[in-house]
Amino acid sequence: MTDPREQPAEHGFETLAIHAGQDPDPAYGSVVVPIYATSTYAQRGVGELWPEPGSGRAGYEYSRSGNPTRTALETCLSALEGGAVGLAFASGLAAEDCLLRTVCRPGDHVVIPDDVYGGTYRLFDKVARVWGVDYTPVPLADVAAVRAAVRPETRLLWVETPTNPLLAVADIEALAGVARDAGALLAVDNTFASPWLQQPLALGADIVVHSTTKYLGGHSDVVGGALVVADAALGERLAFHQNAMGAVPGPFDCWLVLRGAKTLAVRMRAHCDNARAVVELLQGHPAVASVLWPGLPGHPGHDVAAKQMRDFGGMVSFTVNGGEPAALAVCAATRVFTLGESLGGVESLIEHPGRMTHASASGSPLEVPSDLVRLSVGIETTADLVADLRQALDSVA
Ligand code: PLP
Repeated sequence: MTDPREQPAEHGFETLAIHAGQDPDPAYGSVVVPIYATSTYAQRGVGELWPEPGSGRAGYEYSRSGNPTRTALETCLSALEGGAVGLAFASGLAAEDCLLRTVCRPGDHVVIPDDVYGGTYRLFDKVARVWGVDYTPVPLADVAAVRAAVRPETRLLWVETPTNPLLAVADIEALAGVARDAGALLAVDNTFASPWLQQPLALGADIVVHSTTKYLGGHSDVVGGALVVADAALGERLAFHQNAMGAVPGPFDCWLVLRGAKTLAVRMRAHCDNARAVVELLQGHPAVASVLWPGLPGHPGHDVAAKQMRDFGGMVSFTVNGGEPAALAVCAATRVFTLGESLGGVESLIEHPGRMTHASASGSPLEVPSDLVRLSVGIETTADLVADLRQALDSVA
């Protein structure tokens, strides 16, 4: 097995984040990739694209099909995941939709996690199923159950690890084996881990999915998505659909994600360290019934997480004594943690998944517990975060 903690390619992760796809701009030497705010490109003659023949630079025709700022982002994301092709989208769900409609056809079947992100569930349940693609939700930590759920028409095995919001962990390498035996593709939503913590392609996955809105962008100022694949031919098929379906990000959004990605490693170290301190508080507080974080030795996925992740991430969920009213009261009582959806930004966020991010799974088999609170632990001063949560929990204890 390739150790995912080894650095990809010949440069280290931090170097790739800052330089991959980001050579000084050929026009004026701008060190930072410019925002190419253009929808179209002048042609030298009919069908003769702008860069000089032999310049080695790609030519562009129209910005849905390609844009230099987007190319820089796609090259960088592909390098960070150790892939052959990276593709950027207008949102994580746009990336998921493109993947689904590229690899699945009516009559096909997909295996999904039984606690998959609510928006992904909605895509499978309300869009893909209507289109004739069936799905089976399965607890992915149970590899035998995944194997049993596979059918002859299974085209895709969808993995999210750690999951949103229950932080269940799936063994990517083991599931890659199941997918291979079934002749299916393995897609891993790597949004929660980010490529700094986990590199699914090195563990045998075929496709990595990201909501770049989260840790890759890192500053809660942009919505975006990405797909990275190891196989260039699959990359070409996806690129065809990316252009044909058209859910591409604009150049400024690409630039924001690219700027965020440069500091991914330093931010992730701080997220993980702060999460560790927050977990310690939660474990000792009488208002807390259980803590879900893969870094805890008692977490059912701890050993797998330790094997395939560099650290355990900045997402922490917990249940409170006192049911939904207590969970809602904690969410309302924090001052440094902002009550809000999304995750992965520098600022700490708190939310009630049952009423907020996962409301779309309400009444379905994927409904989340009503006493659950989810934290996206940011990179503020550790003591401030711990003190803020302590006073919020004290208020319901
Ligand atoms: N995957 C995961 C794990 C998510 O948490 C989200 C959004 O919260 C998405 C995908 C969808 O991403 P976006 O909101 O950018 O469409």
